[in-house]
Amino acid sequence: MHFEEGRLLKDLTTFGIGGPAKYLIEVQSIPQLQEVIAYCNDKNLRYFVLGKGSNVLFQDQGYDGVVILNKILFCEQQDGTFYVGAGYSFSLLGSQTARKGWAGLEFASGIPGSVGGAVYMNAGANGGETFQYLTEVTYINEKGKLEVLPKGKLQWGYRTSSFQNLKGAIAAAKFHLIASTEARPRQLKIIDYRTKTQPYGDMSAGCVFRNAPHASAGALIEQSGLKGYSIGGAEVSPMHANFIVNRSGAKAQDVVDLAAHVKKVVQEKTGHELEMEIKVIT
Ligand SMILES: Cc1cc2nc3c(=O)[nH]c(=O)nc-3n(C[C@H](O)[C@H](O)[C@H](O)COP(=O)(O)OP(=O)(O)OC[C@H]3O[C@@H](n4cnc5c(N)ncnc54)[C@H](O)[C@@H]3O)c2cc1C
Repeated sequence: MHFEEGRLLKDLTTFGIGGPAKYLIEVQSIPQLQEVIAYCNDKNLRYFVLGKGSNVLFQDQGYDGVVILNKILFCEQQDGTFYVGAGYSFSLLGSQTARKGWAGLEFASGIPGSVGGAVYMNAGANGGETFQYLTEVTYINEKGKLEVLPKGKLQWGYRTSSFQNLKGAIAAAKFHLIASTEARPRQLKIIDYRTKTQPYGDMSAGCVFRNAPHASAGALIEQSGLKGYSIGGAEVSPMHANFIVNRSGAKAQDVVDLAAHVKKVVQEKTGHELEMEIKVIT
């Protein structure tokens, strides 16, 4: 096992923020992931499983533990069943399956995470959610033991899954998709709309806040007059108010302070209490 020391997390996240990981190890296969988790468990080492870093905010002082960078990249197809490594690009899976005429994951196209991150977050967009076409998850538990968990045995909610309360790692996921000639046109429409409405050219971690029960977080932030508001190098995107972008060398604290300011102003002006969607790692 090769543990790298001091790798900068800002280079592994879409926010472009984060200091050094005390240790970092890249895993490319399921047995390797099992071995690393069993080792961390044995040695009582704190660890964090990182996918594409598109929903996390690391601190400027870094992470005092082992970052396990998931690069399990296989994708096996049998008719409409896709068995995919957790490090595989979720966006690519959405566009590839749609191009082949399989419907269900069109919404994934443009979500810049890994399959593991999408399952963990139950990522969703355009009325679709990750769990819908999922059939099972290959999971490495905290002792490094492999388990195959059927979807029905897991809990799913808006940007939540059972995995957020478990200590281990998602190694792979199986999806069962439906043949449809509509899949590709739908996916192209989705990606076209995304690129017109979201700040893809800027560094961010996507939507900062979950939508409130009956109101979109972006609309509430915009109504509160916060588009373009900035603290340090962090700015509320002028294009999409629920995105905080790293405009120029933002510190983690700039993002945290800006998110706190947004939450406070939205509460005062609209009465809605916003809840963070991105994971702030300490
Ligand atoms: C421009 C942009 C647009 C976005 N649009 C959307 C959208 O439309 N819908 C949406 O839901 N999200 C969206 N996101 C957020 C993000 O892409 C998703 O939450 C994505 O699923 C995160 O995947 P990741 O691999 O990047 O996870 P990471 O950011 O690497 O990790 C996120 C969390 O998942 C955990 N995790 C990751 N992989 C594993 C694993 N293998 N095993 C166990 N835990 C794991 C991490 O420990 C962490 O707690 C967007 C982000 C950006 C930057």
